[in-house]
Formats: sequence, C-alpha cells, structure tokens
Amino acid sequence: MTSPATTPSAPYRGRFAPSPTGPLHAGSLLAAFGSWLLARAAGGEWLVRIEDIDPPREVPGAADAQLAALSAFGLVADRPPVRQSERHPLYRAALDRLVEAGLAFPCACSRSELAAQSGIHRRCVGPASRRTPAWRLRVPDGSVVAFEDGLQGPVVQDVAAEVGDFVLLRADGCWAYQLAVVVDDADQGITDIVRGADLLDSTPRQILLQRALGLPTPRYLHLPLVLDPEGRKLSKSSAAQPVDPADPLPALRRAWEQLGQDPAPLEGAGSVDALLRCALVHFDRARLPARLHFHRATTTTGADHPECASGGTTS
Ligand code: GLU
Repeated sequence: MTSPATTPSAPYRGRFAPSPTGPLHAGSLLAAFGSWLLARAAGGEWLVRIEDIDPPREVPGAADAQLAALSAFGLVADRPPVRQSERHPLYRAALDRLVEAGLAFPCACSRSELAAQSGIHRRCVGPASRRTPAWRLRVPDGSVVAFEDGLQGPVVQDVAAEVGDFVLLRADGCWAYQLAVVVDDADQGITDIVRGADLLDSTPRQILLQRALGLPTPRYLHLPLVLDPEGRKLSKSSAAQPVDPADPLPALRRAWEQLGQDPAPLEGAGSVDALLRCALVHFDRARLPARLHFHRATTTTGADHPECASGGTTS
C-alpha cells in the first residue's frame, strides 16, 4: 500500500472548479460556499477555475452565468478565474513527461471491448485499429492509495483492481478531467481541495498522478452531495433547479444549514455582505456533516429576521 498523502506546508489556498455544464444549482453552491468558508476561516486564498475541457458536455454561456452567479452570492475569487480551455499546453507537457517516463501508453480499446472486464483496463484487448488512440496511465498491480479525508476520514482504494489503467487524453482529443485537475491544482498552488463527495472516488487516481508527475498532494475534504428525492445528484437530475442569483439569501441560508451550521446567527442578515460576514464569524468546521449525501432540504427562510448578533450590517 502506498503511504498517505504528504501534507502541504504552504499557506492555505483553496478553489472552486465548476464544469460549465449548466447553471449553478444547490449542489454546486454548497461546494462553492463550503470551499470559500474553509479558505476564509483558515485566512487563506480562494480561487475559481472553469473546467471547460469537455466541449461536448458544455452548455454555451454557462461559464459566464456561473461566474455571474458566484458574484451575486458574494463568492468572489482572489484572482481572475482561469479557464482550462486556455491551458492545453500544460496538459500536453504533463502527458509528454509521463510518456517519456514510460508511465503512459496509447490505447485503442473501445468501451465495448472493455465491457467483458467490467470496463476496467488492465491490458489492451481488441485490435489496435483505431486511428487516434486514447492515452492511459499505466496503473501497476498493487497500486493501493490511502489518504485521510478532512471530513470522511480514512479512504483506501486499490486503483489497479477497482479502476485500472485510466484515461489521460481521450480518443476524441479531449483532455481527461483527472489529468487536467491534477496539473491545474499543482500549477495554481492549491493546498486544500474542498468539493462534493461524488469526487471522493477520483481522489486516489489524482494522488497516483501527482506521484507519477512528482507533484505535491493537497489536503482533501469531500462535502456531502445534495441529492434529489429520487437519490440522483442534482447536476444529473432533471429536477435540479438553478439557484436564483437575483435572490441569493435563501439559497445561501440553505447551503449554510446543509453545511451543518447553526442557522440562528444568520437570520438577521439582510444582505449578502452581511450574511457572509456573519457566516465567517460563526462558521464552525466541527459541525460539517460527515456523510456522503443528503436529500434536498425543503426549508425556507422568511424575510424578517433579527439582526446578526455578531455585528453583521445590512449594507
Ligand atoms: N469540475 C468538476 C465538477 O464540476 C469538479 C472538479 C473538482 O472540484 O475537482 O464536477
């Protein structure tokens, strides 16, 4: 088993990294607000990165709409947001390094050819007939990764057995999320990754890649996912309602409660600025819910609240 992730000693730098596949919804707001709160509570920086490397899944205008929504919710990054679509040379350089080190290989296996082995690639099957291959990371037998999640506790995954050799560059020419996210988190000096628990399973792959590329491993904290009443992740659900940037306070209050925080101190906040100031005063990391998901809450908040006890103003 490989050893646990190294702990970064640099000052805290967090990030929120949405894919522009639709408007911001309750689940993405939870990740944005949670990562912002943890960064601010640590006196750290908070960045935003648009993960627009998958044009077939992208919704035109969604990236700008997400950035506008984040500003309406008062979640403003400390640096100009970066877009993965402008960073392809970094991903190419990383893949070249892996190929030179003999750690990545071209693969023409199709999904249907891999289906017989539960979709897990351990060696190439099928004829190498495809004109443009995908590129995969070679994951040797026994590649077991263990790390301590800041909320979910110890996580162990046998990446070779459970995932197999995974894709870095797709046959359609798109960079895989796993490679791009690892390259960018390192390039941007991210020390702390706070995101939804749907990505808990991806983290061991990302740690393997960091090690293959000689990059530091950040700390990880995976927040519970907000599911719809049928148990689907909100972004995958037709019932996913976008959060309303024109009326930010109810969605911020709901996200605050979903983060396990005491709603009372925020009740009097009459503006986004006031609410975020109160939130920073009262945020208690120990109250974060250590579970993987919960169903969308139906709580609503009224308009009239006493002022925040800790001096939040209604600017
Ligand atoms: N872009 C990914 C998503 O929207 C999140 C990536 C991450 O936080 O690592 O699901």
